[in-house]
Amino acid sequence: MRLTEYLLPTLKETPADAEIVSHRLMLRSGMIRKVAAGIYTYLPLGLRSVRKVEQIVREEMDRAGAMELLMPMVLPAELWQESGRWEQYGKELLRLRDRKNSEFCLSPTHEEVITDVVRGTVRSYRQLPLNLYQIQGKFRDEIRPRFGLMRGREFIMKDAYSFDIDDVSADSSYDKMYQAYQRIFKRCGLDFRAVEADTGNIGGSSSHEFMVLAEAGEDAIVSCDSCEYAANVEKAQMRMDRQTVPEPTAELQLVGTPQRKTIAEVAQFLELPQSRLIKTLLVETDGGEQLAVLLRGDRELNEIKLCRLLDCLEVTMLSEEAVQQLTGAPSGFAGPVDLSCRILADNEVRTMADSVIGANQADAHYLGANVGRDFQVSEFADLRQAVAGDGCPRCDGTLQSWRGIEVGHVFKLGTKYSQALGAKVLNANGKDVPLVMGCYGIGIGRTVAAAIEQNYDDSGIIFPMPIAPFQVIITLLNPKDEQVREAGGQLYDQLLRAGIEVLLDDRDERPGSKFKDAELIGIPIRVTVGNRALKEDAFEVQKRKDGERQMMAVADTAAWLIDEVKRELAE
Ligand code: ATP
Ligand code: MG
Repeated sequence: MRLTEYLLPTLKETPADAEIVSHRLMLRSGMIRKVAAGIYTYLPLGLRSVRKVEQIVREEMDRAGAMELLMPMVLPAELWQESGRWEQYGKELLRLRDRKNSEFCLSPTHEEVITDVVRGTVRSYRQLPLNLYQIQGKFRDEIRPRFGLMRGREFIMKDAYSFDIDDVSADSSYDKMYQAYQRIFKRCGLDFRAVEADTGNIGGSSSHEFMVLAEAGEDAIVSCDSCEYAANVEKAQMRMDRQTVPEPTAELQLVGTPQRKTIAEVAQFLELPQSRLIKTLLVETDGGEQLAVLLRGDRELNEIKLCRLLDCLEVTMLSEEAVQQLTGAPSGFAGPVDLSCRILADNEVRTMADSVIGANQADAHYLGANVGRDFQVSEFADLRQAVAGDGCPRCDGTLQSWRGIEVGHVFKLGTKYSQALGAKVLNANGKDVPLVMGCYGIGIGRTVAAAIEQNYDDSGIIFPMPIAPFQVIITLLNPKDEQVREAGGQLYDQLLRAGIEVLLDDRDERPGSKFKDAELIGIPIRVTVGNRALKEDAFEVQKRKDGERQMMAVADTAAWLIDEVKRELAE
């Protein structure tokens, strides 16, 4: 493309509401424009990168034996009622009515539709395994759309669904997708990790998330420094140390802690480390049960683990009034002694002796509190958030922590949807059995954004070759000059003929601003065409990655560029 004919609305100013690098750079480089909160137009440059990711995904899905189809975005309520998700799916599901007043939703995901397709088309185990995928727009009315394409409301997803006759075969379908994902994100040039993940409310038994490692990531993940274990902290397990339960040495003793409510304040006031305190969190389940959860003072509750244990969808902290009612004291002084609700505790609390706890009286705590003697716990469980430095649950190693951007997700669904929608086939013994399913998503736009989070500098984006919108940019220093136009134009034609994606900057602008644009939009290789070098029969070639310039004979440049692009694509 010639830039004089291309829409490239680059911005010099940093857009005000863009909080993270990729969002800023995608706006500034003219890749996207906002239409409404979480809803974007992909401008020509942005769409090219999006299409690149889609193409890599498509090739790897096809290689893994999946078949592409395309499902609609507007879906009838009936299908969602069949699975039960019409009621269960919260406000992220955007519901609408047509002129006949029938109910529909914009699809946030397609388990129901694909299961409907398969129950109507597949009859026998001989037609299995089957894996169907699409690359399509999704809509989720996210509570906090932000970060541009990273967390949009309308976004492009690749979603695949596998159907197998039994668990063994379903495991093998899952493994194929897992391997395909490894190849996809490697080909996109990303530094990523596959981590064990919680299965959330979509249902199912096992899942992995593919996380791009980046500071801007919304997820916290941990990985072992000596084995392969890696997990989302939502899921990460604790090592079950067989620590001995220590004997109490102190008596329970009431102390005044005036105005000291937080763990930090109490610890400081008593001149003890926070790890000597037991934190008492008072929560209520969505079923209305109030309970107390005990954790070591310096630990954080993992609400997902708690919800799993309680088999509920959500827990909320008790309000000030509810705390007062339950404990007889203002919040900040709750403790497990003589508390009238059920008390759960993190496993670690069992290994603590002579601790500090709230006294259920204003401005007071107990010292020397011991579980079993001074208060009872109805159940110990793994309830805390993993942190760096924790022991690996699989080996003697230590966990390290990272921020991650979830770009892909693979799930074993089991028979949840096939049971609900009656998707059954005849097995080899002529018996009707429900299909065993898996589902596999990739956020296409999020992958582009994640790639930018990992590849940029002060001047702009540094696209990895495989997902760069263009591979080469030819910058004409003075496009009015006949010789410059001629030499640049020839190189441009040669590259186009060789299938190289090349942008010709033939705009009549200052060289400085053209260089700035080329750097901002992150084209991997730039060729500069100017009189001075042409006198020596040379072009100047520069890679965006390292910024090193080299002079190259005009006659050799096309061949060198073609080789270089191919080499980087194959890396
Ligand atoms: P998240 O926890 O980030 O909300 P999710 O678990 O809801 O993600 P899935 O339902 O597994 O996501 O969707 C598959 C993929 O779609 C995700 O791995 C992610 O890459 C992408 N994705 C999900 N929500 C969004 C969004 N709001 N904007 C852009 N991409 C998204
Ligand atoms: Mg989500």
